[in-house]
Amino acid sequence: MLKLKTSQAISPQKTRWLLTLPSFAAALFTLVLAAFLIMTTYTERSTLNTSMEQDLLWQKQALKIRVDNITHQLRTVAASMSTDGLGSAEFTARTFSLMQDSPEIISLEYLDETGQERWHTPNTRVAGQPDLRNPQLIALRDSILDSELESSFSKLIMDRPDAPIMALAVPIKLNYNGRHVLIAQVNLRTLLQQQVPWWIAQRYQISLWENERLIAGKFERSHDAGKLNQSINLDWPPNTLTLTAHIYEQKRNNWQTALTIVVAGLSLLMLGSTWALRRHINERQKAESQLRQEQALRESMENSLVTGIRAMDLEGRLFYVNRAFCEMVGCTQEQLLGASHPMPYWPPEESEQCMAIYRAILNGRADSTGYQMRFMRSNGERFDVRLYAAKLIDGDGVHTGWISAIYDITELQREREALQASHERFVAVLNGLDAAVSVSDANTGELLLSNRHFDSAFNIPDRHGRYCNIPFVHRNKGAPVDSEWFDDFHQHWYQVKSRSSVWVDGSEVWLEIATDITMLKNAQERERQQKEQLQQTTRLISMGEMASSLAHELNQPLAAIASYATGCRNVLAQTEPNIAQLDQAIEKMAAQAKRAGQIIRGIREFVQRRAPHRKRCEIADLLETVQTLLNAEVKKSQVKLTVSDVSELPPIYADAVMLEQVIFNLMKNAIEAMADTPVSQRTLDVNVRREHDMLAVTIADRGTGINPEQMEQLFKPFYTTKGSGMGMGLNICRSIIEHHHGRLWVEANPQGGSCFNFTLPLSLESEAYEP
Ligand code: ADP
Repeated sequence: MLKLKTSQAISPQKTRWLLTLPSFAAALFTLVLAAFLIMTTYTERSTLNTSMEQDLLWQKQALKIRVDNITHQLRTVAASMSTDGLGSAEFTARTFSLMQDSPEIISLEYLDETGQERWHTPNTRVAGQPDLRNPQLIALRDSILDSELESSFSKLIMDRPDAPIMALAVPIKLNYNGRHVLIAQVNLRTLLQQQVPWWIAQRYQISLWENERLIAGKFERSHDAGKLNQSINLDWPPNTLTLTAHIYEQKRNNWQTALTIVVAGLSLLMLGSTWALRRHINERQKAESQLRQEQALRESMENSLVTGIRAMDLEGRLFYVNRAFCEMVGCTQEQLLGASHPMPYWPPEESEQCMAIYRAILNGRADSTGYQMRFMRSNGERFDVRLYAAKLIDGDGVHTGWISAIYDITELQREREALQASHERFVAVLNGLDAAVSVSDANTGELLLSNRHFDSAFNIPDRHGRYCNIPFVHRNKGAPVDSEWFDDFHQHWYQVKSRSSVWVDGSEVWLEIATDITMLKNAQERERQQKEQLQQTTRLISMGEMASSLAHELNQPLAAIASYATGCRNVLAQTEPNIAQLDQAIEKMAAQAKRAGQIIRGIREFVQRRAPHRKRCEIADLLETVQTLLNAEVKKSQVKLTVSDVSELPPIYADAVMLEQVIFNLMKNAIEAMADTPVSQRTLDVNVRREHDMLAVTIADRGTGINPEQMEQLFKPFYTTKGSGMGMGLNICRSIIEHHHGRLWVEANPQGGSCFNFTLPLSLESEAYEP
């Protein structure tokens, strides 16, 4: 019972906590880092937003100041014109100077109160530049001429997309309250180029929008606009101009980006390694759990094994034994571990054999079919084992020793011996039987089992694969068959019993028992012959007994014949003999002679020894013959004889003389049994009737009767109560009736005396045929 030492297992809760902690720390670190980055970005953006807002306000202010400055300069020129009434050249000079100071002004027009242009600077208009037919300019002109406005802006004029123009108009107030108009066309693009300082243009992409339309812009071509932007309304009615600043895409510091990447990478690495560690620990835990389960299973298997297992190192020292082996040899694990030859469980008388096997195992010559050995328990008890040895190879494929499985086969051996003994007894009994016994396969005929008698009687060779093809066996799959067979060659009679059965392997077989009945048959034959002789003797005795009666019987017809003859002579002696009387007397004489002849023939047949011969017989004839034979006896004994009506009964097929003898014997016994019966009660009733397909005959007397103990004795040979009796009569009668397939028995007559009954089958002629 070797136990594996395992490291103390950490509780699952603790393991889970230990596994979660690094993951949690990594996640927290990543979160904080992300928050830091977001916060930094947010702060940066909000700082940018604020400064952009301030810069945009500043820019709006700068543009406003510039436009206000232009307006102011226009007013100055307008004021000069209203008071001094500037001439064309002076106008040109002043406005030219103004335009030089303000390159965003592309033209200046002077219009009178009718709205007609008087002068304009420069003299020639640039192609595509709006003139006074432009509706926006007309509307601007009219707004100044028709109102008291001090200045006004026109709506944006986009005749050329690259030159967005906004006109600016101031009135020239004349002395007579008339109003002329000074209009300056300002190119907003130039205005923007001029008024957006470098430090703004470096930081932002500045653009001017009207509603959704880009009017003008100033930006560094090499920089892309970022997403961060802000807009501000310029408040130059009637235009809805918006100034927008897009901050350029910020280029992050390399070290910052690198740091972020490194920190993010490290976080990911940490998370990944934590995950991998967790997975590894999970797998390890699973493997440990499996190992524990396997160890528990192995331990329970080892403990529940009934096979002893022991392992030896290469030097032959035990280093492992299981519980079953310890229990088997009755030693503790401590007593066995480390033990070498001679082992404590080797019986001293077997130590040589044990040592030889031990050496064979250590030399790697162990028999793969195992060894049968005898071991010894600690209490000295010996027991038989079967040992199988094999190489012990460890997990690295290194041969580290020898492992053996040991089975206690004492009980098995005992059972085997008991089985062997039982088999031997069975074979002895089988061979001791007089009968020839065989079991053969129902399909192949192969002889599966036979006893000595069978082999010698039927001369079957004593070798494997024998076949039982005995032609005389009558076989039937249903009921067992009982038949007789005469072996012509050996002159033996056999009674063969055959039945279908199931063999030990479940196959269908024939079981046959052939009993030599030659002696029995011979005895039966001798008995039959003796019976016949006895029958003959009985008849002779009966004849002797009846001699006087018969003489008397014959005397009667002879006396009658004699008296008829005398009568005939007397008639003939008459002178005229009466022929008719003579004829009558002669006829009666003939009848008496016939009767005498019948009596003599009957006696001859009765006495004659002969084989049974069946033929059609009328029951009435049988009864008449017997009655004739017994007539004298009946009369002498003063017995009243009644015979039932038999005229309706069918004929039977039987040996008539034998049946006559049966009826004769039974009636004669009945008459004799009534010797002491008062004469008035001496009645003999012969009743013959049909019962189904049997003929039933009852001969009832009122004689001495028979007590129950005697009832079966009567039928035994030589049983008699009569001084001169043979005791064979009833025995022969029963033989005759049974020979005719009938039954003979006796019962008490309820009126006193006894009733002898016999039955005979009313068989057909063909059935009665006897070879
Ligand atoms: P046996 O007449 O020579 O004695 P049986 O076999 O005919 O031989 O009869 C055997 C015995 O059976 C007789 O001795 C007699 O005792 C008895 N027995 C036979 N028939 C009758 C009968 N009808 N009544 C009483 N006893 C009878």
